[in-house]
Amino acid sequence: MTGFDVDFFVIGAGSGGTRAARIAAGHGAKVMVAEEFRIGGTCVIRGCVPKKLMVYASRFADDFEDAAGFGWNISGASFDWPRLVAAKEAEVTRLSGIYRTNLMNAGVEIVESRAVIVGPHQVRLASDDRVVSARHILVATGSTPDLGRVCEGLDLTITSNEIFDLPTLPQRLLIIGGGYIAVEFASLMQRLGSKVTMVFRADMVLRGFDSDMRLGLTEGLTAAGVAILSGRLPRHMQRLPEGIAVSFTDGSEAHFDQVLLATGRRPQTDRLGLETCGVTLEPNGRIPVDAHAATSCASVHAVGDVTNRLNLTPVAIREGHVLADRLFGGGTAKVDHHLVPSAVFSTPEIGTVGLNEDAALAAHGDLDVFVSAFRPLKATVSGRAEKVIMKLVADAVTQRVLGVHVLGADAGEMAQLVAIAMKMGARKSDFDATMALHPTAAEELVTMHHPTRRYRQGRIATP
Ligand code: NDP
Repeated sequence: MTGFDVDFFVIGAGSGGTRAARIAAGHGAKVMVAEEFRIGGTCVIRGCVPKKLMVYASRFADDFEDAAGFGWNISGASFDWPRLVAAKEAEVTRLSGIYRTNLMNAGVEIVESRAVIVGPHQVRLASDDRVVSARHILVATGSTPDLGRVCEGLDLTITSNEIFDLPTLPQRLLIIGGGYIAVEFASLMQRLGSKVTMVFRADMVLRGFDSDMRLGLTEGLTAAGVAILSGRLPRHMQRLPEGIAVSFTDGSEAHFDQVLLATGRRPQTDRLGLETCGVTLEPNGRIPVDAHAATSCASVHAVGDVTNRLNLTPVAIREGHVLADRLFGGGTAKVDHHLVPSAVFSTPEIGTVGLNEDAALAAHGDLDVFVSAFRPLKATVSGRAEKVIMKLVADAVTQRVLGVHVLGADAGEMAQLVAIAMKMGARKSDFDATMALHPTAAEELVTMHHPTRRYRQGRIATP
C-alpha cells in the first residue's frame, strides 16, 4: 500500500460492487466496501431474485389449470400472499448472508453506512464521519426507481422497492409503464389473484423489443386477464374511501387498491460527492465511463447501473470483475457489451439476443427473417390457448445470425444458450446443420428453412 488507508474503496455492495471487492481482495488489495441498505443490492434484495421467486409462484396458477387436461383432479387450491412474502424474505436474507460471508472470507472490510466522496482519494462515512483515504474508489451504487412527474398524486404510488413486501395482495392493481418491470409484475400479480390494469403512453408494451414479441406478449397478457390501456397515462390520482381514484388522459376514471409506478430507473448518483473529484454527470444522472470503467478522475471508477449502459446484473458483475483484475491483477481485458442475452420474465416469457428485425433492417438492409408461431405440445393436451413465437434474423449476404427472439416457456434459458453460438459468429447454415432435439420447442430454431420475409436493400422482397 502507498500511504492510503485502503487500496480500494467500493461504494455499494450490490452485484458489481461485491464482485469487484472480492476479486480485488483476492489479488491482495486492502478493500473496504460501504453499503447503506442491505448487502446484495437491488438484484438480490428487491429485483431479479425475489421477482423470479414470485414468477415461479404465479405460474402454479396456470399449472393447476393445465393439470386437469392431464388427468389430475385439483380442487381447493388457494394462495397465501403473506406466506410467499415470508418465504421470499427468508431466501433473500439467506443470499444476503452468503454475500456478506463471501466478502468477509475474502478479507474485505464491510462498513454499513452511507459513503460520500469528498475528494479524488477520500470517502466520508456517514456513520461516524470518518474520512477514509483510498488509492482507488469504485462507485457501484446502482439505480433506483425513477419517480419523474408522470401525473399529479404520484405520492400515492408504490414502486418495485415496495411491492415485494406489501402486507396484502392488492385486489385491484394499476401498473403505470409498459417496460420490463411493468410486464413482469402484470403477469405475476394477475396470476396471484390481483385484477391488473396496465397503462402506458406507447401503442404497445416493451418499446425496443422485436415487434412480434411485443404483439405476442400483448396477446398473452390479455388472455391472462390483464386490462391494457395503451396510448394514455394517468392524469390525476387521489385517495378516496373506495380506493385510489385515477383519472386518465382519455377522460376515463377507475379505482385501484395499489398503483405501481414502473416508468424506468435512474442512476443513484445524488449527493455522492462526485463533483469533488471533477466528475460531471450526464443530464440523466449517469456517470460517464470509458471502456475500462474509468471516469474522468483517474482514481475513481464506476460499474453497473450507475453508468446506465446495460442495466443488467451479469453486466455489472463482469464490469466489476474485469475492473478489479485490471487495477490489482494486471488484467488487460475489456468488457464486451455486444450480443448480451436478456430475458423478460413475463408470462409468456421473452428471451432475446442481438438485433430485432427493425434494427437489423436499419443496419444491414439485406435480411432473411424466419418466423415460426406454433402451439406448444403441452398446450395441445392442457387446452391452454398458448402460442410460442420464434424469430431468427439473418444477414442475407453473410448469413450471420443477427438476432434470435423467443416468446414462450423457458425463452430465457434458450436465449442464454443461443447467445454462445451467436458470440461464436454462427451463420444460418450452422443452425441448419444442427440436428433437432425432439420433442422440444427449441428445435424450431434449427428447423426454420424457408424465410418468412426477405428484405433486399432495405425493402421487402418477393419470396
Ligand atoms: P423500462 O425502461 O423497461 O420501461 C419504462 C416504461 O416507462 C416504458 O413503458 C416507458 O415508456 C415508460 N416511461 C418512461 N418515462 C415515462 C414518463 N415520463 N411518462 C410516462 N411513461 C414513461 O423501465 P423499468 O422501470 O421497467 O425497468 C428499468 C430497467 O431495469 C430496465 O430497463 C432493465 O434494464 C432493468 N430490468 C431488467 C429486468 C430483466 O432483465 N428481466 C427486469 C426488470 C428490470 P416508453 O416505452 O414510451 O418510453
